[in-house]
Amino acid sequence: MVGLILALVWTGGCTTVSVGAPPVVVKRAQMHMGTLVSITAVAPSPEIAQAAIEAGFDEIKRLEQVLSTWISTSELSQVNAAAGQQPVVVGPETLDLVLRSLEMAGLTEGGFNIAVGPAVEAWSVTERQHIPNRDDLQALRPLVDWFSIKIDRRANTVFLPKPGMRIDVGGIGKGYAADRAVDVMKTAGAQGGVVALSGDIKTFGDLPGMKGFPVGIRHPRQEGALIATLDLKNEAISTAGDYERYFERDGIRYHHILDPMSLEPARKCQSVTVIATEGTVADGLDTGIFVLGPERGMELVERLPDVEAVIIDDQGRVFVSSGLRGRLQYP
Ligand code: ADP
Ligand code: MG
Repeated sequence: MVGLILALVWTGGCTTVSVGAPPVVVKRAQMHMGTLVSITAVAPSPEIAQAAIEAGFDEIKRLEQVLSTWISTSELSQVNAAAGQQPVVVGPETLDLVLRSLEMAGLTEGGFNIAVGPAVEAWSVTERQHIPNRDDLQALRPLVDWFSIKIDRRANTVFLPKPGMRIDVGGIGKGYAADRAVDVMKTAGAQGGVVALSGDIKTFGDLPGMKGFPVGIRHPRQEGALIATLDLKNEAISTAGDYERYFERDGIRYHHILDPMSLEPARKCQSVTVIATEGTVADGLDTGIFVLGPERGMELVERLPDVEAVIIDDQGRVFVSSGLRGRLQYP
């Protein structure tokens, strides 16, 4: 795992950063979902802040057991194992996440596609660094068919009709988990906070004395450099980049975001950062827009209310959506 896409600019260490008089700010980090998860709580007391952080981590751990395709007993693994055989009864989170994923697929004209699992496995960019041949990839095409995923909302089932189909929520699950963790933190009494699963970040409220939570957008080609910073207020931010998980062979960069048409790494962008009210939307759209490219991607962003984006194309050109222009601070 390659670390933070978006660094929380203001953060120091991972211990209590009490500001003296209430409210207090507490931050902790743990590994979950194969990534560094850091949770910050703003609360009236250290006890409430700690309880809210604990509740946030517990929720993420619970969701991982339900949704991770790395865990063979998870609901999604059971759905995948029953592909071509029968529908599988799932809980509300799995149903919700699959439905939201199909919604994001519709918005991005199939650029975001949770049925991309068999192709992700064929490449396995992080483990094997294997370049599959064109014929093998083409043979997988009929399986990468999000349109055929069957959901029965009354019976609470998900069914993948073709043997070999596999759902992969790697492109949206972290944003979804951030949303759910924020919900439980609010219930636990936090008045503000941040849940960051690597670069998938959801905020609520603000830091004492500040206008929200400042975050930075990383430069896709200059390690440690930022493109811009901005304050988030009750918003989520998520970045899909070709610099997070990739390998190079003969001067060509092979990364982990696949174009569902070619089943090869998408080539139109270096990074896509999306800001939205929900982490689920920000995370789903960043992956889908990365595939769509800057023109159609920005058209979509401008059409959607409460969605903004910074898109960096294959040449390194930076495109900023209209609603963000006054909000970005450049280094
Ligand atoms: P991360 O924040 O973990 O880098 P991204 O939001 O950038 O995640 O999504 C990348 C992941 O999404 C890949 O590792 C893969 O599991 C999955 N994926 C790859 N291509 C697509 C696609 N076109 N649509 C949906 N998911 C995809
Ligand atoms: Mg994503």
